[in-house]
Amino acid sequence: MKIFNTLSRRKEEFVPLEPGKVKMYVCGPTVYNYIHIGNARPMIVFDTVRRYFEYKGYEVNFVSNFTDVDDKIINKALEEGVDASVISERFIAECKKDMAGLNVKPATTHPQATKEIEGMLAMIHTLIEKGHAYVAADGTVYFRTESFPEYGKLSHKNLDELQSGFREIKVTGEEGKEDPNDFVLWKPKKEGEPYWESPWCEGRPGWHIECSVMAKRYLGDEIDIHAGGEDLIFPHHENEIAQSECANGKPFAKYWMHNGFLNIDNKKMSKSLGNFFTVREISEKYDLQVLRFFMLSAHYRSPLNFSAELMEASKNGLERIRTAVGKLAELQQKALAATAGQPVGAGAASMTAAEQENAAAAKDLVAKYEAAMDDDFNTADAVSAVFELVKLSNSTADEGSSQAYVSYLKETIEKLCDVMGIVTEVKHEALDSEIEAMIRARQEARKAKNYALADEIRGKLSDMGIILEDTREGVKWRRA
Ligand code: AMP
Ligand code: ZN
Repeated sequence: MKIFNTLSRRKEEFVPLEPGKVKMYVCGPTVYNYIHIGNARPMIVFDTVRRYFEYKGYEVNFVSNFTDVDDKIINKALEEGVDASVISERFIAECKKDMAGLNVKPATTHPQATKEIEGMLAMIHTLIEKGHAYVAADGTVYFRTESFPEYGKLSHKNLDELQSGFREIKVTGEEGKEDPNDFVLWKPKKEGEPYWESPWCEGRPGWHIECSVMAKRYLGDEIDIHAGGEDLIFPHHENEIAQSECANGKPFAKYWMHNGFLNIDNKKMSKSLGNFFTVREISEKYDLQVLRFFMLSAHYRSPLNFSAELMEASKNGLERIRTAVGKLAELQQKALAATAGQPVGAGAASMTAAEQENAAAAKDLVAKYEAAMDDDFNTADAVSAVFELVKLSNSTADEGSSQAYVSYLKETIEKLCDVMGIVTEVKHEALDSEIEAMIRARQEARKAKNYALADEIRGKLSDMGIILEDTREGVKWRRA
């Protein structure tokens, strides 16, 4: 597998730190409002990366934080006259609802900054001890960028360039800095703000230290992948590297992945331009699966433009896949009923020679899908391979197809879609007549001593939430 690493600006072969395992950290949202569709892009993209690693057999430890202490949260809390935690807890809960709607799996751990203060104090202490940080007269603790010669290695900027860029900027309240490139690790509280005790002043952490500490606590000093939107490369991720590598004395993340930005009608999304949508607003107009499918239609590193036309195209594309899978499900039921009276392995239960050939073509498309995903998670090409499978299915599967062929196609399309978090089968409540037909097919199978098939039908019914009871008066059924 190849991953484009922002650190080297090249595609590199993925070699995990520990065989079979992936340790992955994704910077999560600041929780002061409903998440917007820009925030949804890294969630969907890196959830898909995680799912693909799992498909390949890796065990993924996936950590994604919530930044729950920040100026924007504090301002909103002051406006509403409530505690900052009331705002952050409310929007963490709302964010989790949106994630579920987008079919983004919950992380292995979702740490929150305010619950990790102890670790932050410890890391800041270590940085001061090692000479990488200093305390200004007002109690602010700054990271000393000059103490880390590799500063700038991720964003490919050098300190001198940065300094000349910053020299003119004088930020009030930061007069205690030794150097304009230095950044805050801990800052004194202001009136009405949440604060914690520390050896330097009553105050709160800077944003960057949060992620260094949460990654260390839940994944260790060295991790495989660190990810987020491209706006985080500088200064956030650059500063995380400086903090973690200076405090831990080890390289921090092996691969740095960054998603491109989502724009709206070719403009930067912004509240003042009025082109700003929350995921919640989109969910009122579209199935959120359409938004997910739309996000995956482009390569994750490319900029992506959101427009009504592109969403319509995604809706139609998703519909095409779902219709094909729906048809395969119907054919599967029919084939299952038709084979009920036959002994195992005979006739329509197994593939014909022509079907075997088509199944081999489908296998090639699976290989094409995997090659696309192996090449830096090229979901755009992976989606094309799925469409080719749909085309193959539409042109080759029909009422005369064997159960084996139809099942193979259905399972293949479903599996590949599941890696992208796309749900193909829209569950419909099975009709009583459909259930009864399946029960009759099961009884026929039993009569023909085809117990494997009878069990398979029972399993399918159980997946549909149908419970069977064999009684003296015959088979009875009920919904679970
Ligand atoms: P924030 O809450 O602003 O810290 O953002 C949370 C995540 O969303 C970060 O990984 C950002 O890089 C990402 N993000 C924010 N806006 C956009 C956007 N318009 N397009 C893509 N990613 C974004
Ligand atoms: Zn972060």
